[in-house]
Amino acid sequence: MERKQHFETQAVRTQTEKSSHREHTAPIYMTSSFTFEDAEQARALFNDEQEGNIYTRFSNPNNNELVEKLCLLEGTEDGITTASGMAAMFSSMAALLQSGDHILASRSLFGSTHQILTRIFPKWGITHTYADIDKPESWENLIQPNTKLIFVETPSNPGLDLVDLEWLGKLAGAHGLLLIVDNCFATPYLQQPASYGAHIVAHSTTKFIDGQGRTIGGAILGKKELIQEVRFFARHSGPALSPFNGWILSKSLETLAVRMDRHCDNALKLAEYLEGHAELEFVKYPFLSSHPQYELAKKQMKKGGGLITFSVKGGVERGRKFLDSLQMLSITANLGDTRTIATHPASTTHSKLSAEEQQQVGITPGLVRVSVGLENINDILEDIENALRASKGISQVAVDK
Ligand SMILES: *Cc1c(COP(=O)(O)O)cnc(C)c1O
Repeated sequence: MERKQHFETQAVRTQTEKSSHREHTAPIYMTSSFTFEDAEQARALFNDEQEGNIYTRFSNPNNNELVEKLCLLEGTEDGITTASGMAAMFSSMAALLQSGDHILASRSLFGSTHQILTRIFPKWGITHTYADIDKPESWENLIQPNTKLIFVETPSNPGLDLVDLEWLGKLAGAHGLLLIVDNCFATPYLQQPASYGAHIVAHSTTKFIDGQGRTIGGAILGKKELIQEVRFFARHSGPALSPFNGWILSKSLETLAVRMDRHCDNALKLAEYLEGHAELEFVKYPFLSSHPQYELAKKQMKKGGGLITFSVKGGVERGRKFLDSLQMLSITANLGDTRTIATHPASTTHSKLSAEEQQQVGITPGLVRVSVGLENINDILEDIENALRASKGISQVAVDK
């Protein structure tokens, strides 16, 4: 009887075939091309009559191993890797759309995805409409005759709002639309959009999948016939992942489950500690019962994820002061790292949005986004507590939970 291995086991045990050296860990195939046994094999490979590696822009054993593993973890049929998350977002949409097509997207999207929809695709006649995450009843009316695909992130950045994937999968199905989900924040350990009918799951592997802030990378996973089109697009337009990064990312997946457990446990403890704090306007985390979509979060996510947001009293100035008062937390643009990171979206990642647009995606002037890392939770709590105090001139304390 063939038994399906569990998530953790698949993440650890999926490997390319061993070479004659019987290595335990896959070697890094740093080669731009692969040799052919003879002219006939070259012909067969180039004409898709045989499967195999030809040139690393098309495929490479390290990237193939990463794809195979990600497909098992996401429950998808096929995939490709890309040099960045943005290459994955761009290539998946560009490969599947034509001039004249329309995209329905959730309003709060990663900044560069927003730029692709608003500044790049219109050059080729591809338009979009943004739908509000908190008004799902409005989405159906926003579908136009030329709507071809729906693109969403859930949980969203930095609002941490959720889209009901089961509902969305049905909506896309009922209207014959492609559904692409950017699953970067949740990772396949917490949620698997393909199980709800997403046709493509796109990733920035830069974040939790790498998990240690070392590489930029991406992946596009989904149904075989769609991936075939995406593969053609990528093979000829060239957003290929370096095999070295592919190797790192495949090794990273071996620890994804244990890392995500700790990220989520630390994030929940931090959210619980901060909820009701006198210096904050609010705290938002999908697995806090005060989150407006707590029930949905429990339904479609295994745990609440590694990101929390809170709004400090005192607006932009206090938000920035808070960041400057942190002793341990990193101030950097990445997320999903072993190290806890704090960002002030209103003055950095989302500063190009108007005040009204910021408000629409839940960015208050004092909003701080924390990507909760793997340090001891007491050190994280203490740094945040004391930065809140220092930014208001209150004396420091020791935190021991
Ligand atoms: C970071 C990120 C991206 C872009 O990924 P890169 O690897 O930086 O190109 C896309 N979507 C989300 C949700 C992200 O957080």
